[in-house]
Amino acid sequence: AMFETLTDKLQRSFKSLRGQGTLTDENINDALRDIRVALLEADVNLTVARDLIEQVRAKAIGASVATALNPSEQIVKIVSDELLNVLGRDTAKFKFASQPPTVILMAGLQGSGKTTSSGKLATWLKKGGHRPLLVSVDVYRPAAREQLKVVAQSVGAAIYEGAYDAATDNNTAAVLRLAKAAYKEARNFAHDILIVDTAGRLGIDEALMDEMAALKKELNPSEILFVADAMTGQDAVNSAKAFNDRLQITGAILTKMDGDSRGGAALSIRQITGAPIKFLGTGEKPDAFEPFHPDRIVGRILGMGDIATLLERAEEKLDKSKATAFAQKALMGDGFTLDDFREQLRQIKKLGSIQSIMKMMPSVGPFAGMQQAASQVDEKQFGRVEAIINSMTQKERLNSAIINGSRRKRIAKGAGVEVAEVNRLLKQHDQMAKMFKTMGSGGGKMQQRLMSQ
Ligand code: GDP
Repeated sequence: AMFETLTDKLQRSFKSLRGQGTLTDENINDALRDIRVALLEADVNLTVARDLIEQVRAKAIGASVATALNPSEQIVKIVSDELLNVLGRDTAKFKFASQPPTVILMAGLQGSGKTTSSGKLATWLKKGGHRPLLVSVDVYRPAAREQLKVVAQSVGAAIYEGAYDAATDNNTAAVLRLAKAAYKEARNFAHDILIVDTAGRLGIDEALMDEMAALKKELNPSEILFVADAMTGQDAVNSAKAFNDRLQITGAILTKMDGDSRGGAALSIRQITGAPIKFLGTGEKPDAFEPFHPDRIVGRILGMGDIATLLERAEEKLDKSKATAFAQKALMGDGFTLDDFREQLRQIKKLGSIQSIMKMMPSVGPFAGMQQAASQVDEKQFGRVEAIINSMTQKERLNSAIINGSRRKRIAKGAGVEVAEVNRLLKQHDQMAKMFKTMGSGGGKMQQRLMSQ
């Protein structure tokens, strides 16, 4: 998961300060040595790591002894502040043209995730009420144009294909013609945004840079987003620098942050190019994409979780009408049936694996231990519980009291589990139903109180 190793290592270095009374030169040095190693192992750029450590050192040495924070907390706070300095404190805004269509130029090397990210960006913009038009100007690789078409279709975004002849139209003039025609198409058909997926090369080359510069001149884009593959670490940072030197990128999209990438590129790109990271790609699916919020990322890196993103995900993925109906039902004390139980399980699963949910929870403070516990949750158990409920009749699901011995045997057989497992589930459900009943009567009373005010 994102920053997992970095987080673990940093936690360890913070922990070493926990038993200390105050920050001293010696314990600061020890902690900083560990933090430096953690950063370098996460593939943070050497200069960036060194600067960060020096800033932390200066602040730690000057740190007040008259503070309610213990040394470990003090260091966490200082590191957090410095990471924010590195990443930029505010979430970078997305720039729109004063006169639509806004043009977004996607830049990057082949395989970095440019085409995938173009589709993700279109999806994200559509959710925000925009009407993006996609175009691929990779006239050198027909397969690349085809790939964008497939991506566009899968996310239901419009694509401009244009008149195009692979045999003769494989030069920069054709690229510019295609780009111009796409721009016209966007304007004529009220697309407020044009996303231009460009040709990638395996490495930085002059011809590519010249073409990008010509596209920039032609289209006057509001955003030039450099797509960087986080897995390539320092290479991604170096090519970001090369693109920025020539094109002045306006931001970066870091892809493949879901992989076992060490994520250090995230901490280096802004520092090296001056351009902020604007989005993270966290998977292959079109919605595995999130705006980059520095404060939340720092929270994740330092093991403080990211409740804000988790809540947003819940907001987006969960069926609100079902949730409301459920809450009402539970609070009215109508009873929590096995049907409800199954629905709850399904909703939780929509948020991702239990482990991925727990990763968003703080691993420090009162929540410590929760991630540990989550790592022991057996994901398969979820599937089994659902299978058991599935093998009940609707009558049984609505009234668990009728589930006697022979029914339990039948259900167990249907779900391919032991009867004991069915018993355990029924007991668990019973406890939950009781809990909801108590909450419900409490809720009812509260409602009455509010009404009588
Ligand atoms: P392009 O050559 O720059 O257009 O790169 P593509 O968009 O074709 O992506 C290259 C590969 O990376 C494809 O297999 C994508 O599915 C994959 N990919 C892109 N973004 C992500 C991401 O955020 N996470 C993961 N796991 N894979 C990604």
